[in-house]
Amino acid sequence: MSEIPSIKEAAREAKIVDRSDVVVVGGGPAGISAAVSAARNGASVTLLERYPYLGGLASGGMVLILDDMHNELEITVQGICMEMIERMRSWNLCVTPPDRDRQPDINATDEMWRKWSRWGLFDFHTQSMPHPVCFAAAFDPDGFKRASNTLVEESGVKLRAHSWFSSAIVEDGAIKGVISETKEGRQAVLGDVVIDATGDLDVAASAGEAYEEGSFILTTVSRWGGVDTDKAEAFQFAEPEKFKQLDHQAKRLIGGCWAYWWLKTPLPGVIWLNCPHMPKLSGLKVDDLTEAEFEGRRRIQALLEFSRENFPGFENSYIVDFAPQTGVRQTRLLQGEYVVTKEDVMSRRHFADTVCRGRDYYTPYRALVPKTIDQLLVAGRHYSATPQAQKSSREIPPCMAMGEAAGVAATVALNAGVKVREADVTAIQRQMRNQGADPGDTPSSNATLLEAAE
Ligand SMILES: Cc1cc2nc3c(=O)[nH]c(=O)nc-3n(C[C@H](O)[C@H](O)[C@H](O)COP(=O)(O)OP(=O)(O)OC[C@H]3O[C@@H](n4cnc5c(N)ncnc54)[C@H](O)[C@@H]3O)c2cc1C
Repeated sequence: MSEIPSIKEAAREAKIVDRSDVVVVGGGPAGISAAVSAARNGASVTLLERYPYLGGLASGGMVLILDDMHNELEITVQGICMEMIERMRSWNLCVTPPDRDRQPDINATDEMWRKWSRWGLFDFHTQSMPHPVCFAAAFDPDGFKRASNTLVEESGVKLRAHSWFSSAIVEDGAIKGVISETKEGRQAVLGDVVIDATGDLDVAASAGEAYEEGSFILTTVSRWGGVDTDKAEAFQFAEPEKFKQLDHQAKRLIGGCWAYWWLKTPLPGVIWLNCPHMPKLSGLKVDDLTEAEFEGRRRIQALLEFSRENFPGFENSYIVDFAPQTGVRQTRLLQGEYVVTKEDVMSRRHFADTVCRGRDYYTPYRALVPKTIDQLLVAGRHYSATPQAQKSSREIPPCMAMGEAAGVAATVALNAGVKVREADVTAIQRQMRNQGADPGDTPSSNATLLEAAE
């Protein structure tokens, strides 16, 4: 293969536009939580985001369910994630199943399945059907943006939107700040601690940290309107054989999707489609991302035409929008102080330095800490995990919990005058609990206690 030609760029300067105790790069679920958490703990915080809005894949990617936040009846992700749910719920932009519907005497019955399955609020990790209803939240993407803005404003975070991170400023083995590309030219923001919450590990990779490049399916998420969801659900349950046959044909057009290709949203008549699955494309490659956009739209258009003609309830449906952000689930993954394995996630391994948790699994602080560069932390879907482990531990709530823990860790270290890699884990756990988050320091009864083997 011939080498791609390149040109040399002249050395460039960047204006120093801001300086904060903590600089967070990426305003997605993890970044918002990190920024708000650090600011609430007294740090000055600057948050950089490339797009005009906050929320990352949860808003711009239109990924509209907060899941992986329960362990049987226990709600395992609390804190800032739960605050966002409560804000959105108060605006009628978020739906969660009531406690009653999750009780063992009524759960996993046909009645509950019919009531909740098209909301996607069930535990698809169980083998048995019907899957039990679990604590999860179906929300509106603009509600997520609004709740993010509110939290960021209230906590005094300085937001710099329209700022595309381009390179890390590293001196003597420590990160000192970041440079972003903007309409005003290149800008530098300096900080004592930098938290990489870009989802693609842009900052840590630029700083020279080791990572593994994983990949998973890409998706162009869309929303459709004009759907009579009552009629569509009635057909599904009244005529299961006919439904199955049509659903099979629809899935062939999609060319890869989960069991349910459409789910309800809090807006009446509006559904979201977490499909198609497009494997073998990289979320880091310009050509692949461009191809995904065209291919995804082609398949969804064909599906719409088929659905309008064949599915009761879809006669007057139309495409409202495609998510402005391509659905990228996995790219670079940090190879940090500890790399979480699939075995750790599946066996619910508990770590002495657990600072947050997802469904029933635990995240050690070391998985947020890079091996070489000082004063840098990572939080979110690019955390230190193997590609297989990340596939089942990257949902929005656990990413928010990681962000919240990273924000706390930054302030614990700054207050103690130590490097972030030396932050007192007990103090992080204590502060997480104080601010209403669950640090996972007290393992649930189904956790595996393997600390002795570490
Ligand atoms: C199609 C799809 C379906 C999914 N389904 C679910 C689901 O049903 N439930 C669930 O809980 N999770 C789901 N997930 C996973 C979940 O959406 C992500 O893992 C989660 O959003 C990760 O959060 P994050 O903050 O780490 O990253 P992201 O959400 O990717 O946020 C990263 C942020 O950083 C910004 N950024 C990136 N690079 C730069 C840069 N260079 N400069 C400045 N800013 C930058 C981005 O714009 C973005 O705001 C799904 C993901 C996809 C793609």
